[in-house]
Amino acid sequence: GALPGWDRVEELVVEAHRRHSADDSGAVADYIPLLGAADPSLFGLAVVDASGGVHDAGDALHEFSIQSISKMFVYALAIQAHGHARVRDIVGVNNTGLAFNSVMALELNGGHPMNPMVNAGAIATTALMTGADADEKWERIRDGLSAFAGRELPFDDEVYHSEMKTNERNRALGRLLSSYGRLTGDSDEIVDVYTRQCALNVTAHDLAVMGATLADGGVNPVTGERVVSADVCRDTLAVVAASGLYERSGEWLFEIGLPAKSGVSGGIVAVSPGKGAAGAFSPRLDSAGNSVRAQLAIGHLSRSLGLNLFASA
Ligand code: GLU
Repeated sequence: GALPGWDRVEELVVEAHRRHSADDSGAVADYIPLLGAADPSLFGLAVVDASGGVHDAGDALHEFSIQSISKMFVYALAIQAHGHARVRDIVGVNNTGLAFNSVMALELNGGHPMNPMVNAGAIATTALMTGADADEKWERIRDGLSAFAGRELPFDDEVYHSEMKTNERNRALGRLLSSYGRLTGDSDEIVDVYTRQCALNVTAHDLAVMGATLADGGVNPVTGERVVSADVCRDTLAVVAASGLYERSGEWLFEIGLPAKSGVSGGIVAVSPGKGAAGAFSPRLDSAGNSVRAQLAIGHLSRSLGLNLFASA
């Protein structure tokens, strides 16, 4: 089945937003200096259904850097380019059970990244992008993510520079991957492209369109453009379900039952295959790095719209 009619979804989106807008638990991320300056009162929520119907509430059009949410869309582009088996063999699909920027996760696994939703695997995924050099890879990422969103996504130069000054750890992960022969090309250049992809700006509305493209078998339901194949959507959503919310991925799937990906700037996108997607943004995070209000609002929608994938009725 599809989502209920437009009016009903609109009502539920407005309600989910209103109900959780007073929650001020959690804390804004500050390990990337510029993220610490975000206004914690911001709260946007959007839903896009697989036929292109759009719902925006609150600050749904406020721009923020996509951060880790870029990982799932770059992963989709990498599978589109290289296929299911090759990408699985190179970056893995299992949850690491360790922090997103863990070096141990890589070391314990003999230098095999294990998972594209944490930094080591995401850097290896970025390296898989086609293109003769780093600039071409970056161009393809920007164009690809923009096709998912249905508009040219702006690049946040300030966030990029702020993170470049503080990303020794990601550079270390890049070097380690290289030392294990798991990264072709210059590791600093690949980490630079990875840092750029994290500094693309999106809104909660964009996230909902991007997610709805995966819900719609790879066709952006707003622009009508085919971005990736239906097989790529299935593969991407499986990995996101297992690992999208950092160390809380299991809890999220258990409680909410939808593949979702979060990022440290406060965004979350959740996808209901065949039906649509929700995008949410609010900067205060729980201790695992997931936006508190975004989780509450999307959880509310999953229940009120009956979207839990594991529910038989
Ligand atoms: N750019 C951030 C990093 O690599 C992304 C982290 C995140 O959103 O989890 O550290």
